[in-house]
Amino acid sequence: MIKQYLGSLFLIELLKGLKLTGKYFFAKKFTIMYPEEKTPISNRFRGRHALRRYPNGEERCIACKLCEAVCPALAITIEAEPRDDGTRRTTKYEIDLFKCIFCGFCEESCPVDSIVETNIFEYHYEQRGEQIMDKTKLLQFGDDYEAQLAQDRTLDAQYR
Ligand code: SF4
Ligand code: SF4
Repeated sequence: MIKQYLGSLFLIELLKGLKLTGKYFFAKKFTIMYPEEKTPISNRFRGRHALRRYPNGEERCIACKLCEAVCPALAITIEAEPRDDGTRRTTKYEIDLFKCIFCGFCEESCPVDSIVETNIFEYHYEQRGEQIMDKTKLLQFGDDYEAQLAQDRTLDAQYR
C-alpha cells in the first residue's frame, strides 16, 4: 500500500514510460520512404506471373496442365493442341489475378520451369478484364524479366 502510494507520488509509472520513449527516440529508425526507398525482396517472392522461354526462343510450356490442376483458386485456364511437328503447346493460357492467391503451387508443379512468379508487386488495373493475364502478356513478362528470373532460380538451387 505504501509502495503504491510512493510510486504514485513520485510518478514512477510516468517516468518508466518516458524512459521507454527516450530509448526509441534515439534508436535506429526502420521507417523507409516508399516508393523512393524499397526493402530487399527474396528471390522466392511470389509476385505477378510470367511464362518463360528457352534461350533459343521456344516457349517452355508443354501444355501438361499440371499448373491448372493444382491451382486451388481455379485461376488458370489452359487450352492446348498438337503442333504440326507433333509437339504439344497451349493455344490459350490465362491466369485471372483476381482469383489468384499467389500460393506458388503452379510454379512448384511445373516440370519445365515455365510458369513462374516474378518479384513484380507494383501494378494496377484501369479497365475491366485487365486482371486476366493471357499468354501474350505472360510471355512478354517472361521475356522482359528473364535475366532476373534466371538469377533467382540459380540462387534458389544453391539453397536446396
Ligand atoms: S499462385 Fe496459386 S492461386 Fe495463383 S495461379 Fe498459381 S496456383 Fe493458382
Ligand atoms: S506452365 Fe508448366 S505446369 Fe503449366 S501447363 Fe505449362 S508445362 Fe505444364
